[in-house]
Amino acid sequence: MKDYEIVIGLEVHAELNTQSKIYCSCRSAFGMDVNTQICPVCMGLPGALPTLNEKVVEYAIRMGHALNCHINTVCRQDRKNYFYPDLPKGYQISQADVPLCENGYLDILVGGEARRIRVNRIHIEEDAGKLLHDGAYPGSLADLNRCGVPLIEIVSEPDLRSSAEARAYLETIRSILLCLGISDCKMQEGSIRCDVNVSVREKGTRELTVRCEMKNVNSFRAAVRGIEYEAKRQIEILEGGGTIIQETRRWDDGKGMSFPMRTKEDAQDYRYFPEPDLLTIVVDEEKVQALKESIPELPHAKIRRYMKDYGFAEIDAALITEDIERAALFEACAESGRCKPKNICNWILADLAKYTNDTGQKISQTPITPKRLTELIEQVEKGVISNTAGKKAFLLMMETGREPLAIIEEEGMAQNSNREELRQLVREVFSDNQKSVLDYRNGKGKALGYLVGQCMKRSGGKANPSLIREIVTHMLSE
Ligand code: ADP
Ligand code: MG
Ligand code: ZN
Repeated sequence: MKDYEIVIGLEVHAELNTQSKIYCSCRSAFGMDVNTQICPVCMGLPGALPTLNEKVVEYAIRMGHALNCHINTVCRQDRKNYFYPDLPKGYQISQADVPLCENGYLDILVGGEARRIRVNRIHIEEDAGKLLHDGAYPGSLADLNRCGVPLIEIVSEPDLRSSAEARAYLETIRSILLCLGISDCKMQEGSIRCDVNVSVREKGTRELTVRCEMKNVNSFRAAVRGIEYEAKRQIEILEGGGTIIQETRRWDDGKGMSFPMRTKEDAQDYRYFPEPDLLTIVVDEEKVQALKESIPELPHAKIRRYMKDYGFAEIDAALITEDIERAALFEACAESGRCKPKNICNWILADLAKYTNDTGQKISQTPITPKRLTELIEQVEKGVISNTAGKKAFLLMMETGREPLAIIEEEGMAQNSNREELRQLVREVFSDNQKSVLDYRNGKGKALGYLVGQCMKRSGGKANPSLIREIVTHMLSE
């Protein structure tokens, strides 16, 4: 069998989380009662006129800057005509020849290596409604709440070479959208969806070959599975002496297979033409510049900085930066300089992540603050409380919102680190366990652990264990 290379290009649709829709003032919210967020404009009633929501342009330009695009400050919106019951107007307003943003790129990290993926374009468009099916009614029901929800479509060049790269690309796009706060990126609510284009070619060749486009890919996992399925399918055809035909296929995640939808011959002609009811978009340069300056440090840059400044492993850096609230908490704690960055990272990724997972809360919905977390970690680092007690105090803090120092005090969690008192305690244990002391001095190393255990027991578990071990070792050698 020949050696093949997979070539992938992705078209990502992300819903923008503006308050209102793209061409009317209806609320753009998910999960509302069917057909309650609609008006003549988004229902496509004859005579209703659209007005562009400026926020949509701003959000899209911000994404354009984040993906290093050129911004077309003068561009139009175009009608893409097709018939489908979830599209009452009979056309979708999108952008054809001139998108708002184009010619950018995105750096992704795959297995520790950076890869640059070119971005062909980002354009703005409106979403369509949704068809619902109800057992009580044999036909389809149309919910138009989603009509006119703003979308950006981000189209990559065919620069991705494996399902792992595609996944990293999607995850990076998602983390940037979240970081900019312009999309909720909830896969299960369909707020980010993608079409996957796949072709295969002999390794070492440069020309692009015939591709298939897969629709209905509703999760990153489905994208990975779909790419692998499709590459295997195409390679089998080629190895069997066949040829690939350009077609659109539908991914069935339940079956783990894709099925033909339409070939190039019956490809739709969308009869694009400029939307006559909307003005040409004209954005002034100053605004483009101001939006550029409003871009925060992006996840990718943050990951590299954490690896460099704090010596974090890529996986830890990626996990911390994955969630903006998490990264903000980490940075505020690290800036205080009161505890070790590595410990802050561990507390956030272990105890805090478990708590937010278990309760389904966001960090901002819990009682945690940078001050509380640093104080708690500081007490553990100083040995005032044990690590185990620290975990208990953490949970109590999260559940009750009490201050960590108060919890340690009121729950009597502090360990005894008073050298004088601990020396006295060790002396008492030695005189009660003279045989063990002799054993140790006669070379039975095991006796040390026993003596330390006895000291801890006598202290009721309150003695600082590392200090006890130090004192016992020292006194045994006297
Ligand atoms: P269309 O207008 O038919 O959707 P585009 O040129 O816009 O075609 O390409 C759509 C997507 O297909 C882009 O993401 C692009 O990178 C990808 N693509 C184009 N050619 C190939 C190919 N040979 N193999 C894989 N992906 C491809
Ligand atoms: Mg396309
Ligand atoms: Zn409306």
